[in-house]
Amino acid sequence: MSMKALVYNGPGKREFKQVPIPKIESSKDAVIKLEATTICGTDLHIFKGDVPEVKEGTILGHEGIGRVHEVGSDVTKFKVGDRVLVACITACGSCVYCKKNLQSHCLDGGWILGHNINGTQAEYTRIPYADNSLHNVEKYEGKVSDEALLMISDAMPTGNEIGALNGQITEGDVVAIVGAGGIGSSALVAVKSFNPGLIIVIDPDEERLRVAKEKFGADVGINPTKVDVVEEISKLVATVNVGERANLTNKVDVAIEAVGIPQTFDTCQNIIAPGGRIANVGVHGKAVNFNIQDLWSQNITLATGLVNAYSIPELLEKVASNRADPSGLVTHKFTFDQMEESYETFGDASKNKCIKVFVKF
Ligand SMILES: [Zn+2]
Ligand SMILES: [Zn+2]
Repeated sequence: MSMKALVYNGPGKREFKQVPIPKIESSKDAVIKLEATTICGTDLHIFKGDVPEVKEGTILGHEGIGRVHEVGSDVTKFKVGDRVLVACITACGSCVYCKKNLQSHCLDGGWILGHNINGTQAEYTRIPYADNSLHNVEKYEGKVSDEALLMISDAMPTGNEIGALNGQITEGDVVAIVGAGGIGSSALVAVKSFNPGLIIVIDPDEERLRVAKEKFGADVGINPTKVDVVEEISKLVATVNVGERANLTNKVDVAIEAVGIPQTFDTCQNIIAPGGRIANVGVHGKAVNFNIQDLWSQNITLATGLVNAYSIPELLEKVASNRADPSGLVTHKFTFDQMEESYETFGDASKNKCIKVFVKF
């Protein structure tokens, strides 16, 4: 029995081809027949050769929704036919890291799908530790759209856990999100659900600023190529009524870094108020300057992280009760036989005004 899958064949080489359907390998595995999948920025990094540990022949993808096709004898929470959401992080559920909600560091899991083992850009995928790595979504039928659901595999938990929760956003906070691409947009959707006082989005792309405001509800967009960001934020915080939060420094309570380059990290440290939190979500390829000489006395917190996906159940509830809506992150739809085309569109996201693709089987 064979199936179609998107396979990594070394840097720059992808192949859409027939491969064998996965089988149960351990008693805690489940095999899922996928109904939808998507592409992540990390998949593009793999094709660029930035993630050398990925072996040639690996099926990529770590996001998806589908139905349980087969279960191992020790799977207790799922049965054949259940509709499930695949978490981007595989969790054994019992190791020291899983117990601390640091599932991305799970001793026998973490980010393994489409990385160390075959992933979800295929008609079927094998999920280890199914009881802790899948979520039953039957009860959200009719309440959470498939588009929103697919965004809760990875995009939303990343924005929520590493952006909003690490930023410790409380009602009324002034929040700046630096970067309005995919990561910034999902952080924005998550941040919005915590009812901050003011959301400022900073990005050099006017179109992205427009989308951040019109589609995802940011209050203000700042283009750093046109104005001085620190000055602009100072004016904003001073004039906009954000209550006691309009602090003496006219800086922000929370700065979310959603790009991953030295300039955007700098912006965060330049605009953070005393007691503020910098939450780094961006994937960095080189060192940044940390201005500890200015910041040591400012009582700020700097948080970094890789998504752990522990907030998926909470996000499903939030979306089902209309307190957050990530469906707008899906900008392009394809069928699975258009997998190559979807990679081309997502690969040039800014030109194609693409945030996330929805690939239906
Ligand atoms: Zn991802
Ligand atoms: Zn674990």
